[in-house]
Amino acid sequence: MVEEAVLDAAAAAVDPDEVLAYTRALIAAKSENPGGTEDRAAAVASDILTGVGADPEIVRSEAGRPSVVASLGAESGPSLAWNGHLDVVPAGSLDTWRHDPWAGEIDDDGRLIGRGAADMKGPIGAALAAASALRRAGTPLAGSLVFHLAADEELAGVHGTKVLWERGMLTQDAAIVGEPSELQVGLAERGGAWFTATAFGKAAHGSQPHRGVNAITSMARFLLRLPEVLPDIEHPLVGRPTVNAATIEGGSAPNVVPDRCEVDIDRRIVPGEIDPDAVRAPFLAIIEALRGEYPEVEIEVRLREWTDAAEASPDTDIARTAVEAVRATTGTAPELAGFTGITDARFYINQADIPTVICGPGSLRVAHTADEWVPVDELVAGARAYARIFAASLA
Ligand SMILES: [Zn+2]
Repeated sequence: MVEEAVLDAAAAAVDPDEVLAYTRALIAAKSENPGGTEDRAAAVASDILTGVGADPEIVRSEAGRPSVVASLGAESGPSLAWNGHLDVVPAGSLDTWRHDPWAGEIDDDGRLIGRGAADMKGPIGAALAAASALRRAGTPLAGSLVFHLAADEELAGVHGTKVLWERGMLTQDAAIVGEPSELQVGLAERGGAWFTATAFGKAAHGSQPHRGVNAITSMARFLLRLPEVLPDIEHPLVGRPTVNAATIEGGSAPNVVPDRCEVDIDRRIVPGEIDPDAVRAPFLAIIEALRGEYPEVEIEVRLREWTDAAEASPDTDIARTAVEAVRATTGTAPELAGFTGITDARFYINQADIPTVICGPGSLRVAHTADEWVPVDELVAGARAYARIFAASLA
């Protein structure tokens, strides 16, 4: 049990100016995905880590994408991973922004604005500033704090955290994934089942549609019944599964009955949904039912990609430590929360079987939007909460 005074000293040593400086330097190091690489952001993070006494290593995927791995403290004893992704979604059209996406401006309402302010250059800046605070406070570390600053989270993490897992680097006793959770303590996230549905028809002259079978019409009948694929289940943290028809393509010319129509469908799954065939079955049942009424309907549904949902236990030291650290920092006990999106936490929870929480400053509501922002107060509170968690887990 670490003395309260040690935790207080670590939190008090967080320097708000340093939190801002780190975050702004990271925001300025563009790392749009798709469209760029994380090299500049990795270089900025490596410099900061070197400055706080670590010896960072760049781990590259086969495609050359960089993740930064660095550890602080002792080589033996307990270990804690802090994971954040270096990539950001593209800024998009600049006329939708009122501020420069890469300048890290602070507005009159105390918001730090920029691409990645919340998701998640801000949380990375907070975590690095927490590490710096521990050093300044002289917090004794009987274990190791390991940073995993990963490439490519926004496009499924295949060049980032997945690579760290494949290379045997996810071995810590506990992990924090610092995605923006408004400092709630996230313990579960949904997964995704991406399907492609293809309707087949029969081409005919557009002036004689009765001679053909219209694939777009078949698809329309199918799409209107999509909500029926959802089971009546609700997870206490991440809620209900969802389904969304995401893209559509079909037909060849205005005067031809279309013989093909294709739709990509995003079915979000909740913890407990583990069987792709079971998730796909209701799609097939709708098609069967449609064929009773419209025998010409012919639709194939194939699974394109499956990402497991993840759920971590609340009954772990890291979950209790995170709850206590946020409560001590903000004065309010955080809620145990779920994430509607997919994060790299799934590699720690599902693949590496490490007790994990998702916790960081900033809100998912503004992630990926124009003028993305994080409240400066919350960013600094995040750094103080991290300092407490690091000290409590490792001192
Ligand atoms: Zn993110």
